[in-house]
Amino acid sequence: MIIDTHSHLYYPELKSKLKEIIDRAKSNGVVKIIIPAVNVETSREVISIAEKYSEIYVALGIHPTEVKNSKTKDIEKINDLLGHEKVVAVGEIGLDYYWDKDNIDNQKYYFSEQIKIAIEKELPVIIHTRNSIEDTIRIIEEISSPKLKGQFHCFSGNFENLQKILNFKNFFISFCGNITYKNNKSATLIKNIPPEKLLFETDSPFMTPSPIKDKINEPANIVYTISKISELIGVNYNELINIVSNNTYKLFSKLKEEN
Ligand SMILES: [Zn+2]
Repeated sequence: MIIDTHSHLYYPELKSKLKEIIDRAKSNGVVKIIIPAVNVETSREVISIAEKYSEIYVALGIHPTEVKNSKTKDIEKINDLLGHEKVVAVGEIGLDYYWDKDNIDNQKYYFSEQIKIAIEKELPVIIHTRNSIEDTIRIIEEISSPKLKGQFHCFSGNFENLQKILNFKNFFISFCGNITYKNNKSATLIKNIPPEKLLFETDSPFMTPSPIKDKINEPANIVYTISKISELIGVNYNELINIVSNNTYKLFSKLKEEN
């Protein structure tokens, strides 16, 4: 039972074929998909998708690269939507100094405020961080709440960053299809992660795994990434899926388990 914890199914190239995409995912063993939103508009959109498909759950939040297009009252609007039964997390939220270096203080404000909301609502956070992992880790350390839990999505930090994150009690780490690419530096780091700390994700439509690299990514392709991780850490494919599925239900406690 695989759960794709990160797929942007509202992108037109995926949304236009959603039924087919969900069916293909299911035939590869993907039983649930979490769609993370990036602002108020996509938060509303992902809820409407989740209302149509039982397999789909959502995370709501303001992505760091959307901070410049948002108003602080949008944080309140996100807060108001979090009560929906299909919402399992606040996300994706975080810091991005690759796409937006001019807006760092504001990004930190949105990140911290949304973390506080997640703690209040007892929801996990899905964290995006690019060229900003030290500051991201620092903010989590400063907030230092035992109630804070979450996922570092599409991890791309170094060994030292990894050690710090592994020490965060209720945090998990996931890798996208880029771990299947030649000379990917995370491929060497992943051996240091106990499988009990891993989650699976595609980040589709981006990050297509290398065996099919010229195609648009979709949740069914998660199997390529899982095979690669299984090979890299030396844990049997099915055993790994069982462990990671337990991790996923533990973190996203509002996800309903299959009967
Ligand atoms: Zn994403």
